[in-house]
Formats: sequence, structure tokens, C-alpha cells
Amino acid sequence: MADLVNELVWSHSRSKAFAGCKRAYWFNYYGSWGGWDAAAPTDVRDAYVQKKLTTRAMWTGTVVHQVAEDALRRVRDGDAPRPVEQVVAAVRNRARREIAESLDGSWLARPARRVGFREHYYQEDVPPESWEAAILEIERQAHVLWEHRLFRRLQAVPGRIRELEDLRRFPVDGVDVYVALDVLVDDGRGGVVILDWKTGDNHDGADIAAQLGVYGLYATQQLGVPADRIVAMHVNLRHDTETRHPVGAAEIEAARSTIATSTASMRERLADVAGNLALPEAHPPLPVGDPACATCTFRGICGRR
Ligand code: SF4
Repeated sequence: MADLVNELVWSHSRSKAFAGCKRAYWFNYYGSWGGWDAAAPTDVRDAYVQKKLTTRAMWTGTVVHQVAEDALRRVRDGDAPRPVEQVVAAVRNRARREIAESLDGSWLARPARRVGFREHYYQEDVPPESWEAAILEIERQAHVLWEHRLFRRLQAVPGRIRELEDLRRFPVDGVDVYVALDVLVDDGRGGVVILDWKTGDNHDGADIAAQLGVYGLYATQQLGVPADRIVAMHVNLRHDTETRHPVGAAEIEAARSTIATSTASMRERLADVAGNLALPEAHPPLPVGDPACATCTFRGICGRR
């Protein structure tokens, strides 16, 4: 297999990481590169392992997204939907196993495939009932999903589902961009509906709108959907709410502009743009004592435990 090349490919999440601590961004996209190899230098391996850490809130989102994806993939493949009770029972078993593997450290044998929690890795003081509460929240959101009118509609017309968490890469003004839409579905009238599941408490409306704008850019440029035929919705499964976002020419142009500005800022810090060479000294840490360090996934390798 050819060696993997570390390229600067823009994504909404990369842009958000860059907007925060520059050293954390560097660990995420450069300092951990190659750390999937257990024989990598210790600092690279540590950065990679810490990059893989999750939290109860992030894990809730990951599991619920996988539940939604699996269910829709199943009906799209022509299989009958599974009853929610069956899904929830499987999720509960999986959740307990993942928590146990994180707690006993066995996840470290395969950090790319297993789940490790920051709470365990950094020995945070989390009462046992908080883990049970996280599992119950996943189960509750699975029930909300199953009852949601849009999820039911998707299960009724699975042939219209065009994309399900598929990672896509496409060029925008001199940089490649990654997107992975939760769901993209034909509306049956020449347009598309983009659906985004949210599972958390603190989602920022402007951030969601920006992300959906990038998806709109993808739909127009790569799928040829007219800008006025795109509807974007985010469904918050924690609060059982749905919000429609405008994604038209203005939002798509804003996304294009954000990609250009953010990419230029990322490149400005590179020692070699063509080789995508980034040095840590060009990506400084936050000042000592910054509150963000207390919960940062890289606080171990960064010396801010
Ligand atoms: S611990 Fe603080 S300074 Fe270090 S990477 Fe994280 S946020 Fe940045």
C-alpha cells in the first residue's frame, strides 16, 4: 500500500479546530500523524491516542448517529426495519462493553477501533451513575429518533436516500474539501433535503448554519442541485426539535468565502505550503491557566494535565 500523505484538506471541523488553540490544531492534524502505528515515536503515538479520546457527550452523539445510519442503511438495502427495542438492547450491550474497555485500558491495544474516554484516561472524578445516565440518554434519543416524523418518512421512502454519512472530497477554489452528510435525500421534485442529527445541549445556531452552507455548496457544485431547491434541516434528538435553515445562493457564497479565508490562514502558518509542513512553534499553545486546557483532549502531551 502506498504511504499515506498528509494533505491539507479543508473541513468544517478542521476550520473550527483552527479557530481554537493552534497547538491543539497542530496535535490533531500534524503532531499525531503516523501515530496509528504502535511503533511510532512516543510523542506521536501519545498525540494520536489522545486525539482518539472521546467524552460521554461526544460518544452519545457518535452512537446515536451510528444507530440512525445503520437503521437507514438497512431499509435502503431492502431489509425490514428493526424494532426500536431490539436496537436499544444492542446499543446498551455495546455501550457497557465500550465503557468497560475504556476503564480497564484494553482499548489502547486498538485505539482506532475501540473507544477510550477522557474521563478514564485523565482519571476524572465521574460517579458511576453518570455513566448509567449517559447510556440512558442514548436509549432515550434512539426512541426519539424512531418516533420522529422525518426518520419515519425516510424509512417509508428509502429509495430516495442518496447519501448516508458518505465521506466526499471535492475541490473549492484551490483546496479540497471533505463533507459527510448525515442524510441527503431526494425530495421527489428535483431538489434535495439535507438532514443533520444533533444530540447535544449546546449547539450554536450560527455554527450549524455555516456547516449546512458547506453542504449546500457540495450539493450545488457536485450534485448539480439548483441552490433554490435545497432544504436543510437539523433535528435535535436531545430536545426533540427540528429547525429549518435557509441554504440558498447567499449561504453557499458565504461557505465558499469561509473556506477561502480559513484555508489562507492555515497555509500562512505552514513552513512549506506545497509539502504541508507544519511546525509546532508556528502553532503556539494557549496561555498557561487558560480554562480550555482543563478539558482539552491533548492536555497530557501538552504538559497541562
Ligand atoms: S492543553 Fe491547552 S494549550 Fe495545550 S493543546 Fe490543549 S488547549 Fe492548547
